[in-house]
Amino acid sequence: MSTLRFNALKETLNRQPIEVNEPKRRSEIFGKNVFNKHAMRQHLTKQAYKSVIDAMENGTKISREVADHISTGMKEWSIQNGATHYTHWFQPLTGGTAEKHDAFFELEMDGEVIEKFGGGQLVQQEPDASSFPNGGIRNTFEARGYTAWDPTSPAFIMGTTLCIPTVFIAYTGEALDNKTPLLRSLQVVDQAATDVCKYFDKNVSKVIATLGWEQEYFLIDAALADSRPDLQLAGRTLLGHSSAKGQQLDDHYFGSIPSRVLNYMRDMETECMLLGIPVKTRHNEVAPNQFELAPIFEEANLAVDHNSLLMDVMRKVASRHNFKVLFHEKPFAGVNGSGKHNNWSLATNTGVNLLSPGSTPMKNLQFLTFFVNTIKAVHDNEELIRATIASASNDHRLGANEAPPAIISVFIGSQLTKVLDELEKVTDGKLSPEEKTDLKLNVVGKIPEVILDNTDRNRTSPFAFTGNKFELRAVGSTANCANPMTVLNAIVAQQLIEFKSEVDALIKDKKLKKDEAIFNVLREYIKQSKKIRFEGDGYGEAWEKEAKKRGLSNNKTTPTALKAKVSKKTIKLFEDLNIMSKIETESRYEIEVEEYAMRIQIEGRILGDIARNHVIPTAVKYQNRLIENVVGLKEIYGKEFKKVAKEQMILIEEISEHIEKINKGITEMTEARKKANNAKSAEDTAAQYCDKVKPYFDVIRYSCDKLELLVDNELWPLTKYRELLFTR
Ligand code: ADP
Ligand code: MG
Repeated sequence: MSTLRFNALKETLNRQPIEVNEPKRRSEIFGKNVFNKHAMRQHLTKQAYKSVIDAMENGTKISREVADHISTGMKEWSIQNGATHYTHWFQPLTGGTAEKHDAFFELEMDGEVIEKFGGGQLVQQEPDASSFPNGGIRNTFEARGYTAWDPTSPAFIMGTTLCIPTVFIAYTGEALDNKTPLLRSLQVVDQAATDVCKYFDKNVSKVIATLGWEQEYFLIDAALADSRPDLQLAGRTLLGHSSAKGQQLDDHYFGSIPSRVLNYMRDMETECMLLGIPVKTRHNEVAPNQFELAPIFEEANLAVDHNSLLMDVMRKVASRHNFKVLFHEKPFAGVNGSGKHNNWSLATNTGVNLLSPGSTPMKNLQFLTFFVNTIKAVHDNEELIRATIASASNDHRLGANEAPPAIISVFIGSQLTKVLDELEKVTDGKLSPEEKTDLKLNVVGKIPEVILDNTDRNRTSPFAFTGNKFELRAVGSTANCANPMTVLNAIVAQQLIEFKSEVDALIKDKKLKKDEAIFNVLREYIKQSKKIRFEGDGYGEAWEKEAKKRGLSNNKTTPTALKAKVSKKTIKLFEDLNIMSKIETESRYEIEVEEYAMRIQIEGRILGDIARNHVIPTAVKYQNRLIENVVGLKEIYGKEFKKVAKEQMILIEEISEHIEKINKGITEMTEARKKANNAKSAEDTAAQYCDKVKPYFDVIRYSCDKLELLVDNELWPLTKYRELLFTR
């Protein structure tokens, strides 16, 4: 009997929901562990408070002297709230978060013990940076990078540690994290969008990008998850026959949340409230044991931090409830995967959502301006968007016949399509008074009604307009949102800069009125970007064919998709906008290419190990039993034995055939890995892992899964899909 699997099942079946303490009102505890404006007002001097707010809102520098005041206030507040340590909290290029804890505790020269945390420690810290990926920017012998406080994201307490959000930069100035380029992109899009807003409203002085992510995940009992080496090490199952019942009945999506899970969610959401993460919706997802969590949207930098923090919190709280959270995009073959929709928009300091239609024609023209420019930006940079969401794990969704596809397209709904069709007909040059009135009354003026009764919803488009925001749905559930956000901000910023210069030129050279100039430029953009718009079902062969005809890219694997990250166009985009230097762009590419190869390498090793050391021995054991049985039958029936032993003998042969296929597959895969490791560049290695190594996964898996169906259930060592997905 396979002990680990059955012990895990027994343990799981005996579990009771863990009790949780939930406050009556969430508002009572919201942000209690955050050094927010409220806490700052109580713990900072007036000058220090003003200084932080100024830095948050206008990006002004904080002087060293003021930093000393701030750090003192922060320390006092955090100690009052149970902190004993502090850390600079940052997001290295591994995609996760990193922290190195230091105690406030210090020993003075005279042996006196004090609690200390100065301005210097708040503003800058030097983690041992040598073990974070840097793509060759820093030679390991100089391994020097530092973290620097990001005052736009407030400090918080996790457990007993004061966490200070920081950027992570090499001493030579290059960014080594995900946050730095994001912050730069936010600055750039602020500037570009504010300039364009001035056509419509002179009072706009700042534009922020907003992000509302939706996090999908699986929740599996910890004992069951730990009973499988593949889940433990790769975060997904590398083999396992599909369960007799899967998601086909759609009964999970509409079902009630199981009580153990519900208690987990309540506990985790309480933690989120304390940390100021405004989580709001929770529900079951399509697949069994799959769930989703979404917050109220926030300023993009804060929202990105909150998503990273959330993933940490989810893991920690899960272990209290004997669960394991799977963030992997495709933990189970044949079962719905997980994504992280990124809802994105732009908002002004005057409180206007620039992607929300307004109440007057002028406001709607502003909406259309941002709407059309975003579509144009996506059109011009579809390959880069595809690249930014590429990863070994997301490949299982994108391009693997699961929505969204690897082809980037924009869905806007039939009503807005009509509006753009009308705008496409606008006269070239000056407009007659009649045309202007008609446009205002019948096209631009009609938009709010249009959106309100726009009921067509599309669930498969990778980039959909959903009433007052765009929703980038192709982001993977493991991803750090900073990357897609940086790209989106950058391409829209570049587009808006271009738009402004074209409009200004028409006003100056062609003597057009402002609104005429805007209509003229928008008309051209609508025409130029038409091919990116697609209202149909965003995946399947028909769409792939159509997309090919349109000239849209369809990069199905990460190594191919990533190339757009270092195209001349991308390097220039980031350089022109001062978001990343060529070195920074290239080093990030290098890191991702290496990471891809490593992930496939690890998966290959795990699969080889499980197949050879778990599956084959089990199959042999079962085969021996069959042989014993046949031998016994022969003893009883003599020559006639074949009549009664026929099926057993077929099984014996089938098992041998599968064992042979598995063994051969593993041997060849190992050879392919060796070759890939010796390829002449990291890029080549990744390509070989993708094209030469990964295909063996299917071959090996196929036979293992067949054996799972053949072998005695009692002997099978690996927890089965049915048990992983349906045990509550
Ligand atoms: P659904 O798409 O399921 O109907 P909603 O439309 O309420 O749900 O929003 C989904 C997500 O979009 C939420 O996380 C929400 O915070 C986010 N969202 C809503 N408005 C904006 C906005 N202006 N900017 C960014 N995100 C937004
Ligand atoms: Mg959504």
